[in-house]
Amino acid sequence: MFLTTHAVIASSVFSYFPSLSNGLVFLMSFLSHFLLDFIPHGDENLIDKSWSRRKKILALLFVGLFDLVFLLVFFVWFYDQVVVDMSRLIIIIFGSILPDGLQFLFFIFSGKENFFTKVLGGLQLFHMKLHHFALDRFNFALTIKQGILLQITLIVVAVFLAIK
Ligand SMILES: [Zn+2]
Repeated sequence: MFLTTHAVIASSVFSYFPSLSNGLVFLMSFLSHFLLDFIPHGDENLIDKSWSRRKKILALLFVGLFDLVFLLVFFVWFYDQVVVDMSRLIIIIFGSILPDGLQFLFFIFSGKENFFTKVLGGLQLFHMKLHHFALDRFNFALTIKQGILLQITLIVVAVFLAIK
């Protein structure tokens, strides 16, 4: 799922809970990432397993940069339109996209064997299991086009909910 989709949904949902502490909101935003990745969303196989590490990193960078531009536009809009604290919004967005950031770190450091890469590797395995849950369990997956359509729909709904 794209970073923008994660960030928009988490920001929208947690704008309804202003009294939660920053620490809790960060943790819940982080967990929301995995919950959302559970939903089939079309881009699960954007990075082919058979690619070299270098190709994976370049592909992730390319898609990620585009995604971050959208995310930045959303961030400015959200801060402007929805009454929310700037640092709070950053905490939510950071938490909600961190799992994909850790995945990126995993691809960068996966050549080395140490405690850090072991933890990242475990998280990566869990992340991928969630991504492929519907496919493995029910043999169900969306095409990339259907997935993008679904994610745009989710973003629009979240934005409407955020405006209140
Ligand atoms: Zn993810």
